Amino acid sequence: MITKILCIVLIGLCFSIEILDFSLMGGVMKKKIHIEDKKCVLCGKCAAVCNVNAITREGKRMIYDEEKCISCGRCVEGCGFLAISYC
Ligand code: SF4
Ligand code: SF4
Repeated sequence: MITKILCIVLIGLCFSIEILDFSLMGGVMKKKIHIEDKKCVLCGKCAAVCNVNAITREGKRMIYDEEKCISCGRCVEGCGFLAISYC
């Protein structure tokens, strides 16, 4: 009986560690981007290639929404002025 309880506790512990590890990995793996205003010419290409509308133009600035971003890298590759990089 004690062995069975011990096994259940150990399995539960391992499962919890796996879930924690997975969520930590997800947090680390999600890359954020940075738009350098000085290099940006407001061409709008980054906003056009972003499938989740994480980049929008507001006045004379391109605004990045970290919550919407899925870290696909299309804007980084698409900016011909090297104004976008990973943080
Ligand atoms: S693609 Fe580059 S230059 Fe064009 S708006 Fe986006 S950040 Fe600015
Ligand atoms: S990395 Fe992808 S999802 Fe994030 S802002 Fe750039 S194009 Fe949009």
